[in-house]
Amino acid sequence: MSFQHLYVHVPFCSRRCSYCDFSIAVRKQIPADDFVASISTELQQVGPVESLETVYFGGGTPSLLPPEAITTLLRCVFNHTPSPHAEVTLEANPENVTANAARAWRSAGVNRVSLGAQSFDDRVLEWMHRTHDAGQIARAVKHLRDAGVDNISLDLIFALPESLERDWDRDLDHVLALAPSHLSLYGLTVEPRTPLDRWISRGAIQAPTDDRYADEYLRAHERLGAAGYAFYEVSNAARDGRRSRHNSAYWSGRPYLGVGPAAHSFDGRARRWNHSAWEAYRSVIAAGESPIDSREDLTEEQRQLERIYLGLRTVEGVSSSAFSRPLPPLSTFVEQGWLLTDGSGLRCTPSGWLRLDSLVSALTGNLTIS
Ligand code: SF4
Repeated sequence: MSFQHLYVHVPFCSRRCSYCDFSIAVRKQIPADDFVASISTELQQVGPVESLETVYFGGGTPSLLPPEAITTLLRCVFNHTPSPHAEVTLEANPENVTANAARAWRSAGVNRVSLGAQSFDDRVLEWMHRTHDAGQIARAVKHLRDAGVDNISLDLIFALPESLERDWDRDLDHVLALAPSHLSLYGLTVEPRTPLDRWISRGAIQAPTDDRYADEYLRAHERLGAAGYAFYEVSNAARDGRRSRHNSAYWSGRPYLGVGPAAHSFDGRARRWNHSAWEAYRSVIAAGESPIDSREDLTEEQRQLERIYLGLRTVEGVSSSAFSRPLPPLSTFVEQGWLLTDGSGLRCTPSGWLRLDSLVSALTGNLTIS
């Protein structure tokens, strides 16, 4: 089938962040040639991908690849010249954004960069095991703008443990001073087997609290909203309408193709995913085999639940007709300030987004999402 949205997973990182449980390969030397060859082979296995509207290099740390690798991959993906109408996003760590790299990415066809800023406090960045300092974030934004990439997103993490005394307002001040077109805000979660999980288990630090999560999330809505940013999804805000077209495709349930280790694909009815470890992925591709590890056909009930869940993540919400069972009375949720309804559909308020999972459970009669 033809896909309009392509995700390329680049698994390499130079160090594991303290909270991260992603499938990554920590490497001092990035095996760029092997990676490009593997992705090119997988794309040949899949067949031509035409009319791409979005391409997203995610990771891992895609900015660790040399710029020539990004150029080669984009030529391969677009059959030589990237479409000027496509949104081409590269996730980057601030320390990798030099003036030369930014120019090379732009010439390769990258027109959107998502920067993993996380915080503007060097003490906090060190605690997170990040490999950049605060000064590198502003320099990265400048290099990108100088190179002609003005569609810049910053990732920030909120709800850190109390004892770090992270000043969320100060970080929001820094963000607003840089005025990126897009922001992604993620609350810290404690994933099993991460350094953070071990620190908490041995009592070296307290787990983040729900109260702090709610306070900082709502504070971000207040301050960013006043500065012209509109939250269009539970974790994402844009100004001047510069939403992520790629991620919006996920949330609206459109099909997408994912290539690279651990990448997922969705054709509208079934999901499949690749071997997650880089070495396992590389060796099956080198043996001429399919990198697909597993697949799952979604039942009609699962697809319905997913439509509801994804719809309620977005500011558009979900139509009442998406529910096959009668909805419970909504007045309690509306009175609590969690849901807005106009009779034909419903959507979450910021307070509703804070309890999205339990709202979906309540609205769907406790169907569980896979
Ligand atoms: S850079 Fe991103 S993917 Fe890599 S370890 Fe840190 S959080 Fe995980």
